[in-house]
Amino acid sequence: MKTWIPDERNFAYLNWKQVEALPKDKAMLVLPTAAIEQHGHHLPLATDTLINNALLGRALALLPAEMLIYALPPVCYGKSNEHIGFPGTMAMSATTYMSVLRDIGASVAAAGFKKLVLYNSHGGNTALNDVMARDLRAEFGLRTFHMGAGAGAKAEGLNAQEAKYGFHAGEWETAVLLRATPELVDTNAYTVNYIARLEDESVLSPENGAVNFAWLTRDIAASGVMGDPRPASAENGERWISAAAAKAAAAFEAAYHYENHYKP
Ligand SMILES: [Zn+2]
Repeated sequence: MKTWIPDERNFAYLNWKQVEALPKDKAMLVLPTAAIEQHGHHLPLATDTLINNALLGRALALLPAEMLIYALPPVCYGKSNEHIGFPGTMAMSATTYMSVLRDIGASVAAAGFKKLVLYNSHGGNTALNDVMARDLRAEFGLRTFHMGAGAGAKAEGLNAQEAKYGFHAGEWETAVLLRATPELVDTNAYTVNYIARLEDESVLSPENGAVNFAWLTRDIAASGVMGDPRPASAENGERWISAAAAKAAAAFEAAYHYENHYKP
């Protein structure tokens, strides 16, 4: 898989003596979590993994060299059963996914590290990463953090409908890949579907509502897209990558310096 992680921040490029020598009270590891799943007719299965890596690489490149922050190889497979029924979706069950994170956390703690950031680019993993961030803290004493790959950055120029419901193979993801891997975007194959409309005032909602209904992509979007990729541009992709990278770099810096301020 293509990578944008600077070599000097790629944990897997170290040898074990170098890992042993790292000051563990300072060094922090980042575990990317992503997916291999359908992304409509126009984006590759690896979309979430590529976006994660492109954003993370850009963010890590912004950090001062003396900050000892390393990216672990990504967990490319995620909890993707919302996309079952589309050939190419590789879904892990919740229990398998949590076991993988638990075992990686065990190894991180066994090597002596104290801090681990879960850096996620796939919505289906979010709830499980929240669970695992706490479980790794409780079981191994790791100081854990969980963040979305976009790090809360606002995507300037994205309309409100797309910002809320264009979350799968829509304008944002398409723009990022038009910038990062344009050769993998089929711009002649765009399709448009929305899981909900902003003007829908129903109490039942697919995400972040008073009552959420569990959804499967095939119930809503035959093409697999939830959003409108048509306005996507590489220029906006660049703008959104750099905005997210700046936010993510600031978040890594905060986590790196974090101490428990809430003493009992
Ligand atoms: Zn995606």
